[in-house]
Amino acid sequence: TLRSADIDAPFLSQKYPPVKFLSEKDRKRILITGGAGFVGSHLTDKLMMDGHEVTVVDNFFTGRKRNVEHWIGHENFELINHDVVEPLYIEVDQIYHLASPASPPNYMYNPIKTLKTNTIGTLNMLGLAKRVGARLLLASTSEVYGDPEVHPQNEEYWGHVNPIGPRACYDEGKRVAETMCYAYMKQEGVEVRVARIFNTFGSRMHMNDGRVVSNFILQALQGEPLTVRVPSRLFILDLVNGLVLLMNSNISSPVNLGNPEEHTILEFARLIKSLVVSRSQIQFLPEAQDDPQRRRPDIRKAKMMLGWEPVVPLEEGLNKTIQYFSRELEHQANNQYI
Ligand code: NAD
Ligand code: UDP
Repeated sequence: TLRSADIDAPFLSQKYPPVKFLSEKDRKRILITGGAGFVGSHLTDKLMMDGHEVTVVDNFFTGRKRNVEHWIGHENFELINHDVVEPLYIEVDQIYHLASPASPPNYMYNPIKTLKTNTIGTLNMLGLAKRVGARLLLASTSEVYGDPEVHPQNEEYWGHVNPIGPRACYDEGKRVAETMCYAYMKQEGVEVRVARIFNTFGSRMHMNDGRVVSNFILQALQGEPLTVRVPSRLFILDLVNGLVLLMNSNISSPVNLGNPEEHTILEFARLIKSLVVSRSQIQFLPEAQDDPQRRRPDIRKAKMMLGWEPVVPLEEGLNKTIQYFSRELEHQANNQYI
């Protein structure tokens, strides 16, 4: 039977989630670095179900085996415990390079390691792409825009980043990673794709990383006060579709993938509170240092060139995420004495 942290009910009677048959010509060998994390594991699900061969490389710093365990043993799937800061020699057709801690507490935990992962790790994956002729998609971030002076941000904006602030290891690490992609493209002819991802939420996101959706859902489920900070989130399934569209497009310049819809944080808090049917109070807290005041994607490029835009209604995404969080809390409660 299927073992999984998060798989919808119809799969439960089968050993693996259903996988499409692809002819050898259409089947790709795909490497996902950071594939045991939040975004990577959902991308693994999509590419596996589409019928591709997927190799996940992860050092399990923030990722978990549990996120991909429902594929372990499948003939199209491989999980490698490896740190991208070390060279990697395998044969693949496409690389989704996602390995990097992504939330402030995680990337600030060891800033030097965050820098190494984003610089040396990206260099290694570009070296791999160059050797095997694979296309590489970099999971970049809206954080390359820093604390933006223009709203909304389109891809032409160069950003406003403090190079020595507490977030610099991540922001500047990703900026260098982008620079490396285009250096390998120009100098070595490597095909690159760069997705500038804006905050995304969904199942398997980290429960305790201090981000707005996870905080609110946890606080609402536990009847604690809902603290109030920043807006606008993209649902994970919309992101994964955007990443695959971008990978298979002919657009090599950076593309924003985000949700331009704006909600005040109060609306967000109220919506989560009502979906969870919680008695939590809503409370206001001071801003964290260097926290960008406002960030909103301009997604006209993705719309025009990829035909992509978020389609999952906020309530639906939130409901799925809330279900996941309550299952996780239950799981933790049941396992705390083991
Ligand atoms: P995550 O922490 O859930 O996943 C990152 C994965 O990378 C984890 O499985 C972790 O163990 C792995 N990893 C970290 N360092 C590694 C190393 N040196 N070698 C091998 N594996 C390593 O985070 P996520 O939210 O899934 O983010 C995935 C990617 O998307 C990241 O590159 C992140 O910067 C980018 N991104 C995410 C968001 C978002 O809202 N989630 C927004 C912008 C950008
Ligand atoms: N690399 C890798 N896997 C490969 C090919 C290269 O991990 O299949 C690493 C290699 O260790 C090197 C980096 O990628 O440090 C950059 O490779 P490139 O060929 O661009 O540089 P060079 O090896 O010439 O320094």
